[in-house]
Amino acid sequence: MIEIQGLVKRFNDATILDGIDLTIEQGEIIVVIGPSGTGKSTLLRCVNFLEQPNAGRIRIGDLDVDVARASKKEILALRRRTAFVFQNYALFANKTALENVAEGLIVVNGWKKARAHARARELLARVGLGDKVDAYPASLSGGQQQRVGIARAMAAQAEVILFDEPTSSLDPEWVEEVLGVMKQLARERQTMLVVTHEMSFARDVADRVIFMSDGRIVEQGPPSQLFSAPEDERTRSFLRKVL
Ligand code: ATP
Ligand code: MG
Repeated sequence: MIEIQGLVKRFNDATILDGIDLTIEQGEIIVVIGPSGTGKSTLLRCVNFLEQPNAGRIRIGDLDVDVARASKKEILALRRRTAFVFQNYALFANKTALENVAEGLIVVNGWKKARAHARARELLARVGLGDKVDAYPASLSGGQQQRVGIARAMAAQAEVILFDEPTSSLDPEWVEEVLGVMKQLARERQTMLVVTHEMSFARDVADRVIFMSDGRIVEQGPPSQLFSAPEDERTRSFLRKVL
C-alpha cells in the first residue's frame, strides 16, 4: 500500500500541490485526469522525488518518509519503490533496447551483466520486442521506444509504476500497442498511477479515476461513477471537453 499524506509542492510563490492525500492499494490502477497546469505531472514527480516536495509524508510498505526532511537514503529507497514512465520515453540514445532495460538492474540493483541481460530479454519479449533487443532507440518507432520504457520500469520491480502521459507523444498509429502493454500490466495487477488523456483506457482499466484541479484532488471514484455522475462543476466542465 502507498499512502500519500498532505503532499505540498511550491514553485517560487505558487502552490502547485496543495495538500494531496491519496492512498493506493496494492494492485490498484488509478488514472489521474485534470486540466493542463493543474499539478498532475508534479504529483508523480514528487512521489518519485524527481522534484523535492515541500511538505507531507509518503509511506510505501515499511518505508515512511517525511518528505521535507528526507535523507539521501530515504530518497533512494523511495525511488527504488516507484518506477517512472515518461511521456518522451527518456531512453539512453547510445544504448540498445536491451542495455536500456538492463542498466538499472546493473547500476541500482548491482546485478551481474549476464543476469541483467537475461532479465531484460525476458521483459522485452513480454512487451512484444523480443526481436528488437539490439536496436538503438533512434531505429525504433515511438510505440516501440515507449514499450522499452515500460519494460525498463517493469525491471525495477517497484511497488508502483508512475506513467506520465505515456501515449501523448506518440503518432496515433502507435497508441494502441502501448495501451495494450499497459492493459496487460493492469491484468497482472501491477499497481499503477497513470496520468492520461485516454478516457477509454480510464473507463476500461481504472479501478479509480481522480480528477485534479489547481493542485487539489477535487473528486474521485470508479470510472463508471465519475464519468456518468460527476459531482463538482469543475469535473463536469472538464469532462464535457474530453469525453
Ligand atoms: P499538463 O496536463 O499540461 O501536463 P500538469 O497537470 O501535468 O499539466 P504540471 O506540469 O504538474 O501540470 O505543472 C503544474 C504547474 O506547475 C504549472 O503551472 C507549471 O508551470 C508549474 N511548474 C511545473 N514544474 C515547474 C518547475 N520546475 N518550476 C516552476 N514551475 C513549475
Ligand atoms: Mg503533465
